Amino acid sequence: MTNIKTLFKFKSVIELLDYFKDEKTCIAFYEQIRWNGSPVCPHCGSTKTPYRTNRGFRCSEKLCTKKFTVKVGTIFEQSHLPLRTWFAAFYLITAHKKGISSLQLGRDLNICQKTAWFLLHRIRETLKAESPVMLRNSVEVDETYIGGVEGNKHANKRTAPLYESTTAKERKDLKKEGVIDEIRWDKIAVLGLVERDGKVVAKRIPDTKAATIIPIIEKHVEKGSTMLTDEFYVYGQLELKGYFHKSIQHNLKIYVQGQTHTNTIENFWSVLKRGLYGVYHYTSKKHLDRYLDEFCARYNSRDLTGAERFEKFLHQAENRLSWKELVA
Ligand SMILES: [Zn+2]
Repeated sequence: MTNIKTLFKFKSVIELLDYFKDEKTCIAFYEQIRWNGSPVCPHCGSTKTPYRTNRGFRCSEKLCTKKFTVKVGTIFEQSHLPLRTWFAAFYLITAHKKGISSLQLGRDLNICQKTAWFLLHRIRETLKAESPVMLRNSVEVDETYIGGVEGNKHANKRTAPLYESTTAKERKDLKKEGVIDEIRWDKIAVLGLVERDGKVVAKRIPDTKAATIIPIIEKHVEKGSTMLTDEFYVYGQLELKGYFHKSIQHNLKIYVQGQTHTNTIENFWSVLKRGLYGVYHYTSKKHLDRYLDEFCARYNSRDLTGAERFEKFLHQAENRLSWKELVA
């Protein structure tokens, strides 16, 4: 994972902004990232060397001849923000373990919150572009509820998801800030799968029935892997589906038995929830999928340096999401 070659090694946001001092530098850098020196016409896909124009290129394909810049067909198209601001946002969003709120991002970049919110969501949309993740060896599976209020984390999680999983101190702070009374979270079930020392997959699920959970596991985990779960009855079917299955009796307050535990996925839930409740304050069903993708992408690139992560996600900026789609 760590043998990614980066075009530009930086160690801090200061170095990043020093280097990307103007739009010209940013454009040249992004042309290198996106095209590796050979521009491709985004209108017709032609790889014939285009003509240089004042502001970019003109396709040299006779039937096309359209003008383009490196921003066409990317999340940067039709944005009035300089690439320098986008790049700084890319770095900030992917660098913070728990994520960053649009409020904070707006303050850090000196842009209004609405702009910051849009920017955050567009960047988030690119984070899901990763190819489907396949897990193997030892894989922990667990479901959780986002939002609502969740009770005792282990024993009551399915029967009484009525007490949010932030710490008492965090709740007190949120109350003091006047945030907590205004928050109304939809209660949403999420299934998480994580390979020990590997990647994580987290998906919103409509319910916790076997017919919902088992196909997701089969889609993302290789047969023959060892599945580690709690005592939830649905997981009892895993052996029939070609997996080894070890479970831990959370209802008996047993959480670790040798290598059998679900602590890795529980830790992921903890970071996710702290991020969602503490940083974002509110989430809706509509946006949860993007938040999940963001947290998974960040977790799955945890071994990369800031510079490697920045370039990896910049590569995915071709995935575009319009304002219309976003607010639909
Ligand atoms: Zn063309």
